[in-house]
Amino acid sequence: MNKQLEHLIQLQQIDSKIRAIQRTIEDVPGKITEVESPLQDSQNVLNRIKQQHEAFEKKKREKERALEDINDKINKLKMRTGEIKTNKEYQALLKEIKAVEDARSSIEDDILSAMEDADTLGKQIKTEEQNYRANKEKVETLKKDIENEKSETEKELLKVQGIREKVIEAVDSEVYDQYFMLLEICGGLAVIEVKDEICQGCNMNIPPQLFVELKKNEEIYNCPQCRRIIFYKNSTS
Ligand SMILES: [Zn+2]
Repeated sequence: MNKQLEHLIQLQQIDSKIRAIQRTIEDVPGKITEVESPLQDSQNVLNRIKQQHEAFEKKKREKERALEDINDKINKLKMRTGEIKTNKEYQALLKEIKAVEDARSSIEDDILSAMEDADTLGKQIKTEEQNYRANKEKVETLKKDIENEKSETEKELLKVQGIREKVIEAVDSEVYDQYFMLLEICGGLAVIEVKDEICQGCNMNIPPQLFVELKKNEEIYNCPQCRRIIFYKNSTS
């Protein structure tokens, strides 16, 4: 086989490998986001419950202030009983006290209900915090695995790039320029096999005369259709 063609075939294998490795490295941030997503979900749930909890606590504080006010009001009303002269006035005051006491009872119910809600949410917060911690540990482990894999892949990339350097030393510069241009315009696939007279790059038939020449693998030929450098893999060579 033509030596240059042989080098190009090898170079293409290396460049395909480099592209695959680079894609693996490019996928790393996406993978990390993916493993972090349950943690983010857990955090969102926790934040939501904490907000609800805080809202109930706030409601409770407001109602407690209202209760103090209403107790003051009732005390003041009760102190007025000493100033009462007539039964009619007395009845009216009792009625007023009763109304305010009813309002107080409603506020007390509200406080109780807000306390119960806050308590329930407080328990949910504890559970969610446990979930979050468990998830965080898992996520940290997974992230470490991904980072380790990434550094292994980066080492592999350096190794393959080193091999590439050696291979291109043996390639004539004109041949390399053509190869490199094709690599750019043909989606990373510049050198391609022809199988059963069909270019595996574009799936077009190779003209019979060209195929006869190609099978000798003595020259560098391009696919008439996609311009890629083509070769024929002879089972005996
Ligand atoms: Zn082709």
